Amino acid sequence: MRSTFIFFYISINILMLFPVAAQQGIQNKTIINTPDYVLKGELTIENYQTYVEVPFEVPIDIKRLTIEVSYSGKDQRTTIDLGLEDPKKFRGWSGGSKNKITLSMEDATPGYLPGELPSGKWKLLLGVPNIRKGIVSKYEASIYLEKNSAITEFFDKPINSKEGWYRGDLHMHTGNSDGNCLSQSGQKIPCPVYRTVEAAAERGLDFIAITEHNATSHANSLRELQTAFDKMLLVAGREITTFYGHANVYGPTDFIDFRMSDSSSMQAKKWMDVVNSKGGIVSINHAGVPSGEACMGCGWQIEDLPNGTVSSVEIINGGIMKVSGSADSPFQGWKQWYKMLNSGQYVTAIGGSDNHTAESKKEIVGAIGYPTTVIFMKELSVKGMIDGIRSGRVFIDIEGKSDRFIDIFSTNGNEEAKMGEKLNITSKNEIQLTVSVEGALGASIEFIVDGALQSEMTQSIKKNKEIVKIDWQYVPGSKWIHVKIRDENGKLILVSNPIYLVKN
Ligand SMILES: [Zn+2]
Ligand SMILES: [Zn+2]
Repeated sequence: MRSTFIFFYISINILMLFPVAAQQGIQNKTIINTPDYVLKGELTIENYQTYVEVPFEVPIDIKRLTIEVSYSGKDQRTTIDLGLEDPKKFRGWSGGSKNKITLSMEDATPGYLPGELPSGKWKLLLGVPNIRKGIVSKYEASIYLEKNSAITEFFDKPINSKEGWYRGDLHMHTGNSDGNCLSQSGQKIPCPVYRTVEAAAERGLDFIAITEHNATSHANSLRELQTAFDKMLLVAGREITTFYGHANVYGPTDFIDFRMSDSSSMQAKKWMDVVNSKGGIVSINHAGVPSGEACMGCGWQIEDLPNGTVSSVEIINGGIMKVSGSADSPFQGWKQWYKMLNSGQYVTAIGGSDNHTAESKKEIVGAIGYPTTVIFMKELSVKGMIDGIRSGRVFIDIEGKSDRFIDIFSTNGNEEAKMGEKLNITSKNEIQLTVSVEGALGASIEFIVDGALQSEMTQSIKKNKEIVKIDWQYVPGSKWIHVKIRDENGKLILVSNPIYLVKN
């Protein structure tokens, strides 16, 4: 594709353009490392207090443009201001305050306008408020052109590169869809994104996904807020909202066509395939809610999706817990999840507050972080979160208490598997299960096999940090086992993901 570029040759003295790695073509890449080309030039006293235009060509179908500029002579007080024009209009100005700018349909560096990236001749504007006589300042502008508009900088760049368990909330709404909060005078208003982000930060969460109904307009706010909230990962998710069910999407930040004309899996697969092909995941929301005038299109009506299309199911939704009073309610996603597991699919259970009012106090059911989903991530990044959900090393802390923890581990002879993994059952059927629980003194552990409670296996928790080992005789044909923790009143407080049982 790049071979069709036209390179402009402006002035021999001040500008030279060098195509870089022209043989590679523009990829659907997720990591920016090699520029598509580099514009180089020199500035002298002749450019003092002028605006130098550096043209470059953008081909069709580019979804993200990123420009990184560096220059010499700063010690001699050379200063270069940056601005940008597309073939039709002025796109922004950042003066001397930034050396990297990025634009897509959904988001742009503050100072620049997001929107379509028209093909044709663009101009990088170099304002030169100062350059001393006799000084030659060399500048270099690396241009990155991408066909995928995912916010790569945040998609790949970790907030924390340490591996570990991270706590967050995967489902909430701001004023970009139907989330609201109160104005200074107490009026109910569409809630600005920063209020939701601030509330989540106050709760000490490590990550949140803001999941607006079909909209992508929050991505720009999150990209700006992420720099200020540099301890909490902000994920621009989406709640794909159809007439036949809702599902969250994590990963892609560009438009996904949600308009299904019937509830067939063929219709659903169209948009789900787009999400999966972009490295994202699909997670079914509040599957058990009856669809009707009380909640239009809320229940999940899409059947027969091929294995691997859906990565997770929201089994506990804060909004439903609030209305029904229970995490066990049949309106939750348990039935859907168990059905998918029993059909042999590996789908991870997650929770989400589905919060629509940022200022709800944290002890209130359905507040941000109530429930919390805890994910083992290789690093705290969007990719780390998505990989973590896929791996099944995930549990749900229903009340969002930061001191509660659960993990399970299993062995069969020399075989072993952690939560989310497959345990190979060899010739012997004896399985040893180990459950590690914290912050649940006085509670009890329930074991669930293929959706059925094994009541004779229930164990009580006698220490704040408890490790319970139990032997279980594998019943041929069993597919999976997971664990629930209930407090002394029988209230569900922690839910593990399964260990999958595989008999060869
Ligand atoms: Zn919904
Ligand atoms: Zn929602």
